[in-house]
Amino acid sequence: PAPLGDHGPAQIIAMCNQKGGVGKTTSTINLGAALAEYGRRVLLVDFDPQGALSVGLGVNPMELDVTVYNLLMERGMTADEVLLKTAVPGMDLLPSNIDLSAAEVQLVSEVARESALARALKPLLPDYDYVIIDCQPSLGLLTVNALTAAHSVIVPLECEFFALRGVALLTETIEKVCERLNPELRLDGILATMYDSRTVHSREVLARVVEAFGDHVFHTVIGRTVRFPETTVAGEPITTYATNSVGAAAYRQLAREVLARCPAA
Ligand code: ADP
Ligand code: MG
Repeated sequence: PAPLGDHGPAQIIAMCNQKGGVGKTTSTINLGAALAEYGRRVLLVDFDPQGALSVGLGVNPMELDVTVYNLLMERGMTADEVLLKTAVPGMDLLPSNIDLSAAEVQLVSEVARESALARALKPLLPDYDYVIIDCQPSLGLLTVNALTAAHSVIVPLECEFFALRGVALLTETIEKVCERLNPELRLDGILATMYDSRTVHSREVLARVVEAFGDHVFHTVIGRTVRFPETTVAGEPITTYATNSVGAAAYRQLAREVLARCPAA
């Protein structure tokens, strides 16, 4: 991909699947890091009260005084007060911790409760090419906020039995948000993760996913490797932890697909 002279306004991508353990957080970190390697300015938003994205980038969520929660709920709070630089040049983080779980309840009584995140991110968009929101494993109000803020959705699906179970509910939710709150929202892609080429089973699941979603499926498939759990412990992306690994190459390939499918404006 060509280097960029200018940056922004950012494309916002929601990494979303109400099932846990499918690779949302791993894909957020590593897609972000690969896009940053290609010279893009990237902001990662930890939008899961578990704070796994923050942990995966070497941040201890319990030690944070301010998080994305404060940016969401407190008038007058600016992003500069919350933003953290990561070890990856060009990639920043809006961290979160358990405080964010209160937002789900508190937002219910707010006006325009679905667009709190969109409002919070708006001033940041000129500074970045991509904002990637790591959603929590639910279809509740926080996830609806992410979908309302986003231009596109990436749905990681693990190549396992029952991977497709629940996806209909997710696509219905995306359609509803599209109709009622955010007409520009697109499902940019289904990302097959945890693929094991040695098993017939993985290949069958992948074939079913392609049958169901056709062109919406990214050509890039993320293989299953212990390298990913290792990177979580190391607190860095696979692109720097194991820069020549198959996993790093896969996320670089995904980044090139994303650059083509959802080019920054
Ligand atoms: P989610 O955010 O959807 O809950 P994670 O990205 O946290 O999922 O992944 C769940 C677990 O699986 C983590 O321990 C992670 O390190 C591991 N993992 C993610 N992707 C892969 C992969 N391609 N191969 C093997 N393990 C993976
Ligand atoms: Mg996660």
